[in-house]
Amino acid sequence: MIKVNENYLLLQSGYLFPEISRRVRAFTEKNPLAKVIRLGIGDVTEPLPPAIIDAMHKAVDNMAKRDSFKGYGPEQGYDFLTDAIIANDFASRGVSLATDEIFVSDGSKCDTGNFQEILGLDNVVAVADPVYPVYVDTNVMAGRAGNFDGKGRFTNIVYMPCTPDNNFVPALPKEKADIIYLCYPNNPTGAVATKEQLKMWVDYALKNKALILFDAAYEAFISDDNIPHSIYEIPGAKETAVEFRSFSKTAGFTGLRCAYTVVPKELKVWTKAGKEIELNPIWNRRHCTKFNGASYISQMAAAAVYTNEGKKQVRKIIDIYMSNAATIRKSLTTLGYEVYGGINAPYIWLKTPKKMTSWEFFDNLLSKANVVGTPGSGFGAAGEGFFRLSAFGSPANVAEAMERFKKI
Ligand code: PLP
Repeated sequence: MIKVNENYLLLQSGYLFPEISRRVRAFTEKNPLAKVIRLGIGDVTEPLPPAIIDAMHKAVDNMAKRDSFKGYGPEQGYDFLTDAIIANDFASRGVSLATDEIFVSDGSKCDTGNFQEILGLDNVVAVADPVYPVYVDTNVMAGRAGNFDGKGRFTNIVYMPCTPDNNFVPALPKEKADIIYLCYPNNPTGAVATKEQLKMWVDYALKNKALILFDAAYEAFISDDNIPHSIYEIPGAKETAVEFRSFSKTAGFTGLRCAYTVVPKELKVWTKAGKEIELNPIWNRRHCTKFNGASYISQMAAAAVYTNEGKKQVRKIIDIYMSNAATIRKSLTTLGYEVYGGINAPYIWLKTPKKMTSWEFFDNLLSKANVVGTPGSGFGAAGEGFFRLSAFGSPANVAEAMERFKKI
């Protein structure tokens, strides 16, 4: 008799986006003429810029010739990409990293989801609430989360509420946490963490021999010079943090796929007997055993992001999204909404008016303005009473959506 991994039966259904689709479908069936504007999903909308397309064409041509054809590449990524990553994303910020501390992959969803696999099952996991659901669900799959309490939480996970009172950066937990997931700039709140706030977390992790899993998928959207782009800008972080980066939102790679994870050599973990072990070779072993490298074509495309032309073109696209974010912030503030995020991140997190629940606000917005957003409660209990709007979309659609907000 084949036994199922019962941890999977504990997963709560992926309710949020299917439920949004269901409600939008029901609405459009009843109102076939309504022009619905979608500011719900966090996917990019602008096409890839020419420098990246040219690099891919070159990569395809290389694949067509015997001399330059590429089969399996290094699992950790080609040096042409890791060298560009180190020089542009880290050395430029005073952070030195070696090639074997970078692991190129096909996405941060996989990396943030897979990383917990090399950590013991008895570690206590702490997550922000609201949270990017992958961090919780992958710990449920592994059997680290305990049971579902029926009120939106797992019994063995430490949830750290993120509210306007703490500027959406959680306070240190009262319970001792071993694995801490932090995401800044944040999805869904659009908040950022200052150097001082990140230092508080790095100091906590160093003191408690804890590991920070730092998701910097939205790093490219930071506009404020004082906000750190990497957790390694904080002294001591290399001893206590792994960082995840993705080209998805930075450069429009959601459909192309390329990302990377940084595991510094200084980072140590411990056996049950208290023996100190380097984490980097363990992740390397896991990565090489279960992954055969991101495609040569997507790595060539990613390297083009760091060329002079690539940088300029990618910046132009980010500027379009951030101009959308500014339009949303300005319009909603004028209309009297309490609005957060949208300055250093492509997400706007608004407080629902008149104590409406997140879903009540969703239905109201859809029926009266034909605009789709994401109910905050879908990201966790502390997201109730909030609503996420994404700045990905055409400026014309965003402007039109803001006009329609006046109707509700
Ligand atoms: N991390 C966060 C916080 C995200 O919001 C997303 C995507 O929405 C990802 C990771 C996944 O990125 P990727 O496309 O590289 O898998």
